[in-house]
Parts: sequence; C-alpha cells; structure tokens
Amino acid sequence: MRESPRGALGLDIVRTPPEYPRSAMKIVHAASELFPYMKTGGLADAVGALTGTFADRGNEVSVFLPGYRTALAHPGAAGAERRFRLKIEMGDQYLSGDVRAFSPRNNLTVFLVCRDEFFDRSQPYGNGERDYEDNADRFTFFCKAVVETMRLAELGADIVHAHDWQTGLLPLLLREAERRFGVTLAMKTVFTIHNIAYQGLFPAGYFPRTNLPEELFSMDGLEYYGQVNFMKGGILFADRVTTVSPRYSREIQTPEFGCGLEGVVQTRVDDLYGLINGVDTAVWNPETDALIQARYSAANLAGKRACRIELLRHCGFDAAFSGPVFGMICRLTEQKGVDLVIENSAYFRNRDCRLVVLGKGEKRLENELRDLAASVPAKVFICAKLDETMSHMIEAGCDFFLMPSLFEPCGLNQMYSQVYGTVPVVSKVGGLVDTVLDADEDLSGGTGIMCEATASGLGDALDRASKLFANKPRYAAVQQRGMARDFSWKTAAAAYEKLYRDAV
Ligand code: ADP
Repeated sequence: MRESPRGALGLDIVRTPPEYPRSAMKIVHAASELFPYMKTGGLADAVGALTGTFADRGNEVSVFLPGYRTALAHPGAAGAERRFRLKIEMGDQYLSGDVRAFSPRNNLTVFLVCRDEFFDRSQPYGNGERDYEDNADRFTFFCKAVVETMRLAELGADIVHAHDWQTGLLPLLLREAERRFGVTLAMKTVFTIHNIAYQGLFPAGYFPRTNLPEELFSMDGLEYYGQVNFMKGGILFADRVTTVSPRYSREIQTPEFGCGLEGVVQTRVDDLYGLINGVDTAVWNPETDALIQARYSAANLAGKRACRIELLRHCGFDAAFSGPVFGMICRLTEQKGVDLVIENSAYFRNRDCRLVVLGKGEKRLENELRDLAASVPAKVFICAKLDETMSHMIEAGCDFFLMPSLFEPCGLNQMYSQVYGTVPVVSKVGGLVDTVLDADEDLSGGTGIMCEATASGLGDALDRASKLFANKPRYAAVQQRGMARDFSWKTAAAAYEKLYRDAV
C-alpha cells in the first residue's frame, strides 16, 4: 500500500513532482452517481469534482452514468443527444438500450446509459424500503453498455476508472471484451472503494447473466461464500485499487472494517492507495455560495452570523439564541452514528443548545429523531428529506457539525464544515482522522473535537464543545484554523494524476 507523505499537521500532503509530463490523458469514469445529475451521498460529489477537475486540467474526460429519470430531466442534460443504440448480451438474451451524450463543460462528455425498464425510476438503488430486485441486472447492463460504447466510439482510454460495487464488474468485462474482439479499449483500470460496506452480493444463479467464463465463479474470482460479489471483482481485477482516505485503506484490511473482504483487500496491498477526496470549491465556498443567506470569509464573519440567524428562524427557534448550535447532515443509517446522537437526547433536551438534523434514510432513525424534535420543538429540528439548499444553510449557520460515524471511508461534511467555519465534532475513524485534528490534544493546531464512536464518547465530546464555545477566543482560534485549511481538489487531483501517470 502506498501513501502520500504526511505533513506537519499530520495531514496528507501530495506534491506533483516537477518532472511530471503534462500531456493530456484520455480518462473514462463510470459511476452510479454524478453530481449534479444524481446524488445520494459523497460518491456523487467525488465523481463530479474528479471529472470536472481533470477536464479543466486539459484532459479528455468521459463519464458514464445510468440514464435515471432525474438525470434525464436535469436542465443541464437538456442538450443530451442519442449517440448509440446498443444490444447488450445478458445471459442468453439480448437487451436493447441507448446512449445519450452531452458536454457540460470543455473536455468533459457525460454519457447516459438508457433503458427505461432499468433506470426510469425515481431513486437509484431501491424504493426507500428495499433495494430493487433487479439491481444485479441493472448494473451489469450498465457496465456492459460502458464497454460497448467505448468500443463503438473508439474511445481508446488511457485510464478507465470505476467506482464502487455498481461498476465492480467493469474492469473484468472490459478485458473480456478486448479478448473477444481483439482490440485494446484501455491501457489501465482503476477501481475506487468509496464504501466497502456495500458490496453488491447476489445469488450464485445470477452469474451466467454476466457472460463471464465459468472459471471466474471461484474463490479467485467473483465467488464469495456461494454468492456473486461485484465489489470483489473490482478489487481483484482492476490494475490499481484506491480508497478515499489513507486511514480507511488500512482499516479495510482488518476484520473490524473490511466487512468480510479484508482478505481480498490484503491480496492487493501493493496496488492499493488511500487518496483523500477534496472539496469542490465551486459548490462549497462561503465566499461565493449562492444558497446561503450571506457570503463570508475568515476575515469577516458577519455573513456567518447572518446565516446563523436565518437558520434559527428557519427551524422555528428563537433567532436571538446565543448558545451553541449543532448541525448534522447525513444518510440516516447506523454508519453515521445517528443512534449515538439519539442516545444523547437528554443533552439536547436539557442543555442550553440547539440541534438541526437534515437526513433521510431508515424510518426507525427518522422516527426517533422526529420524536426528539416533537418533545422539544424549541430546541431540536429535523428535516427528513434530501435538500441541497438546507445542507448549505446548516454548514453555514451552525457552530458545530456532528459526525460521530461508526466508520467513515472519507467523509465530506467534516471538510465542508471546516471551510465554513463550523467546528466538526467527529469520531476517530477513517477519513475523519485524516482531516480533523483534536483541539484539546493539539492546542496550537486543532480544528475540531474528536471522540470514540460510542454514546458516552459523543456525550463527552458535546461537553467539550459547549466548553469550547463558552471560551470565545479559543473557539475563534479553532474556527480560524479550520477555515485556513486547503481541502480543494488541487491536492487530491495531483494524487490521482500521479497514480494515473504511474499506471500507464
Ligand atoms: P456518504 O457518502 O457516506 O453519504 P459523505 O460525507 O461522503 O457521506 O457525503 C455525504 C454528502 O451527501 C454530502 O455532500 C452531504 O451534504 C450530502 N447529504 C447527505 N444527506 C443529505 C440530505 N438529506 N440532503 C442534502 N444533502 C445530503
């Protein structure tokens, strides 16, 4: 496993060696989410920023996304034109589809893989209660369509970069197609694990639909305890494997965080890289953010105070409240430590503070948060939907951001929070460890508050946050240090560029 060097703050610093050739590369990405056309979490932000940054650096970038209903309806995709009609082999059937394309900026082409039966749905993975039953078919079809389009369009990529289990079969399908048609479609493949907890596990009977050679349904292939595992395919068969933080790249080699794939990850340790995501500063920047009440910077925080008042009003709280305001934005799943917040309900009920939660997901968690908010409506507010504007209002208007995740591959909101002068309260896992420094452990460099991922750990962190907030000069110093951090994609893109160039 290779990592970038660690700087004085213990944070990863990546330098592009000056001797690096600057010639443009042809890069193809495939993912199930892409901001702003489809987003349920950080995957969309990461792929959106990575593709945009590489296009802006003069590379020729193509990105494939399923032609979801919402993606096709997005105003940015209005100019999408049908480029190819496809017949995709799925087991002993052929399924038709088409590929539409548009170019949202120079050097970037977005390809939408369309087949209404699979993608004309309101949500990408499930109906809110359960995953769709045909997910294996939907994403196998998607991967095969990417390969077929690359062949028809003669894309001739230097790098094909696949993201998460939905595209786990892509590296393998690509090499199979090259063998079958006697062509070279890509020099090298990269597979990024954004979250190893979601693996794409399907019954053994599914395997023939992949049309891959039978011997690949084995321990050294896609088989995982009698099932087909798409993510295992990506990890085993890509030329390079990356994950989204150095810490998580180590964690996924252990049983505690590897979700059963730790042994598979260990076999790729020489080709495994932990590269932290960046912040898309075109979207997340308090100096230019059009979604917040007032713009502000580290030098002048008057705008942040206006955002705080606006948030308090929006939540129905007393706008003159002067104690700490805590915010939380996440998918409502166990991973995000929502239970730990609920277990600390007494804190939010009894202390002089406010809590604003924006989250959608598991009904149980949503209901428990609603109950808490209903019991103290003047202090706790929950907004149970996906709401991009509200997420910016929370980042700008809060004093602290809660992220007590049980595991966190990278995490974006703790970085957004620092950029917005909102002190993050995070657990000591994954990318959170790589991007936040504890203010009590590092008196001159701390940018947040870190805790164990337990209810009592969070309770202790909330106490420390309240104390910090009461000490205005200290709070301001922690806030300023966070705002001075550079989380832009410049750093992350340099790390990916080095990886791509070393690979080809
Ligand atoms: P994950 O990918 O595990 O969900 P990340 O921290 O990497 O977590 O990224 C989460 C992204 O999704 C952030 O951009 C966050 O602001 C956004 N997000 C999560 N829940 C919501 C919501 N209910 N409304 C709007 N944005 C949300």
